[in-house]
Amino acid sequence: MRRKLIAGNWKMNGSQAANAVLLQGIKDGLGNAACAVAVCVPAPYFAQCQSALAGSAVGWGAQDLSVHEAGAYTGEVSAAMLLDFGCAYAIVGHSERRTYHGESNELVAQKTVRALKSGLTPIVCVGESLAERESGNTAAVVGAQVDAVLAALSGDELGNIVIAYEPVWAIGTGKTATPEMAQEVHAMLRARLAAKNPAAAERVQILYGGSMKPDNAKELLAMPDIDGGLIGGASLKAADFLAIVAAA
Ligand code: PEP
Repeated sequence: MRRKLIAGNWKMNGSQAANAVLLQGIKDGLGNAACAVAVCVPAPYFAQCQSALAGSAVGWGAQDLSVHEAGAYTGEVSAAMLLDFGCAYAIVGHSERRTYHGESNELVAQKTVRALKSGLTPIVCVGESLAERESGNTAAVVGAQVDAVLAALSGDELGNIVIAYEPVWAIGTGKTATPEMAQEVHAMLRARLAAKNPAAAERVQILYGGSMKPDNAKELLAMPDIDGGLIGGASLKAADFLAIVAAA
């Protein structure tokens, strides 16, 4: 039985004062959550998370990492820097990075390898645009995104990634995939993993992301291949985030 993971993606939101309130609210309200819980935060707040979340059940991660190890890469943040602050997760290939920063399937695969080899758990995001869904290309697009990552990993390594299926048309729009639509893609993704390593495929957490909220989380999380959520907007309010954690 896979343990569920609820991970917040704060995106480019926050301030030291607002984060302090949000993190305290999450810690205070968490109780004995059955699922794993994490927040993925902007790089300037790594130190704040390290100290605010020390000793708590809330893990934290970055929203990206450099594909390079170190050196002359102005503006980049390396895996070693993330680890220096006790970071556990790194989102890779979020659709906003694919769209606004031109990240290719191959770069996302290389970042996944960089995260894994450094001891971070990559949360690999895949998802189709509205045009791709409407033209019947969801499986081809999402399949190609995940295949590029699988091609870069050994059968053993693939058991150590997290995947987030995030239909681009559902991110930040208030539109959510129905549980059945999401389940269909999650099952397809797990079958692709299983073709490479069936045992590892059973372990991999496949999260759904795209306007997951307290009022739709329960039915999405009830699907057999939906192992948690990557939560954007609703992760910025402790009460909403905690309600999704409770649903999991
Ligand atoms: C996200 O950015 O990963 C996301 C799922 O955002 P939202 O929940 O706001 O749709």
